[in-house]
Amino acid sequence: MDVIHLLPDSVANQIAAGEVIQRPASCLKELVENSLDAGATRIQVLVRDAGRTLLQVIDDGSGMSEMDARLAFERHATSKIREAQDLFSLRTMGFRGEALASICAVAQIEMTTRRAEDETGTLIEIHGSDVIRQEPCVCPVGTNIKVSNLFFNVPVRRKFLKTDQTELRNLLTEFYHIVLVYPKVAFTFVHNDEILLELPAGTEKQRIEAVFGNPKRHVYTSSFVEIHTETELVSIRGFVVKPENATRKAEQYFFVNGRFMRHPYFLKAVQTAYSGMLASDYQPSFFIYFDINPEAIDVNIHPTKTEIKFADEQTIFQILMASVREALGKFTLSPQIDFDTRGSIDIPVMPEHPVSRPQVAVDPSYNPFHTRPVASQVPREWQTLYEGIQPGNPPTESVYTDNRLLPEDVENYPMWQYADKYILIPCMQGIVLVNQHRAHEAVLYRQLMEQMAEARGATQQLLFPEVMSLPQHEMLLAGALAEDLRTIGFDMEQLSPDSYSIQGVPAQIADRSPVPVLMDILEQVRERGADTRSEWREQIAQSIAASGAIPYGKTLTETEMRDLLTRLLQLPQYRRTHDGKTIVSLLTDEEINKKFQ
Ligand code: ADP
Ligand code: MG
Repeated sequence: MDVIHLLPDSVANQIAAGEVIQRPASCLKELVENSLDAGATRIQVLVRDAGRTLLQVIDDGSGMSEMDARLAFERHATSKIREAQDLFSLRTMGFRGEALASICAVAQIEMTTRRAEDETGTLIEIHGSDVIRQEPCVCPVGTNIKVSNLFFNVPVRRKFLKTDQTELRNLLTEFYHIVLVYPKVAFTFVHNDEILLELPAGTEKQRIEAVFGNPKRHVYTSSFVEIHTETELVSIRGFVVKPENATRKAEQYFFVNGRFMRHPYFLKAVQTAYSGMLASDYQPSFFIYFDINPEAIDVNIHPTKTEIKFADEQTIFQILMASVREALGKFTLSPQIDFDTRGSIDIPVMPEHPVSRPQVAVDPSYNPFHTRPVASQVPREWQTLYEGIQPGNPPTESVYTDNRLLPEDVENYPMWQYADKYILIPCMQGIVLVNQHRAHEAVLYRQLMEQMAEARGATQQLLFPEVMSLPQHEMLLAGALAEDLRTIGFDMEQLSPDSYSIQGVPAQIADRSPVPVLMDILEQVRERGADTRSEWREQIAQSIAASGAIPYGKTLTETEMRDLLTRLLQLPQYRRTHDGKTIVSLLTDEEINKKFQ
């Protein structure tokens, strides 16, 4: 029996319009999903020139009848859906019947296919929607489809393709999304005759390790903690890495009902579960699989979108966060991390009789941590009351410099983070507040200026180089700055008269996308008219420091706060940024008391 039927127009109209195939990666996705829909257990992907020249997918799935082989390339021909109703409860991936029709309109296709029950298979060749030939052939069970010269008849599309490196990265990204949900299917990915991935059938964990457990990706299943939560609304399972295995470039994957999805809100739930456990700039890798009644999600019908809307996102957020937290709590190995009490202040029991605040002579050098002369004046009760928030060993031997607000041994003082924005350090004369973003910015700024002066920046190599295209006048400017940019870690080379390829970035912005940072530098230099070398160096350091600095809203661990303050203190002057913004400020005791008058 032939299984393909044409969708009624009413259904066709419900289907979001738009092009299915924008680049080789979207073509690959459609082909591989078809193989999976056909029940394949082994899928080979062969690619040439990042898919420009050839994209070939060979499967051992159901194959097609002679009639279906022809019909498969008609618009809205599909064996997977009969009525609009199905759109809302569908779990198979391909359901639109437009992929092959779209692909064959913009490429040259040769396909052989055979069902197990047929003795001979079918060969069909189509160039830009025209059937060139169709004939019986000898071939194995399954389907072997070759898509050659994608966009051969659409020069605009061809022109918009990025470099081979970028397109190959897109292909692999799309491929990862699929192979991670089909661990029981064996996959191979070959590019220009080189086997890039050989993935035997196995468990989810084995699949993840096979894809990412290498020195480039650093995601090893030995660092995983398993999560698993079943509720009526949703089932959530998967793997998250232990906090100490977080990396700067993490692999973060959500899947829902066997489909990759992007979900910034749920990402936030995972990050919140880790808050206080990660060093700044570090991210947890995770692979989280949701299973949910298809009626509770709005799978965007447009085939190229990966965002999915859930009916009850807040509840799922809570469930997800609790699930990750619980798993981490069970497995957290580091004893000083205790997120339940994080931020709470351990103040000893209040003495029964009223306590009067000691009078402290105001030090003209305005040093709030000047504890030595004060210590002798402090009454006993007061000491007891404040013991909890005093450092274990009051730093009596600290040496201060005039006009400084922080003690040199600041790392010994208790401190808290306020509003994910300030570091707060109670002291004798009030509360010192340190702006976390500006503090880090000042530290990075100084570091970058030194690196440029001494030509010793640290480079973080990019896995996939990026290309920055610029208009002529910007190219000249970029050329002038290139040497300094290189000394601080940009590994960049002129690629053509109007572009640079960027292969590495300064360590300070290892996880930022380099092109916007570079564009910002060029813009700043142009706008502010930096014409001496030292001026443009300042602009460069300024831009990179600003984009690399800890943002507001980032929760810091105690270790991170102490580390930041220690580095801040090493600056020749740290109360203001180089462009005059306040970094450290004191809320005086007097000001605080006034509020209670
Ligand atoms: P859809 O997958 O949305 O149905 P496609 O245009 O991708 O639409 O494919 C059209 C039809 O061709 C499918 O419904 C299926 O019946 C058939 N088909 C495509 N690829 C394969 C394959 N690899 N193996 C078996 N049948 C296939
Ligand atoms: Mg399909």
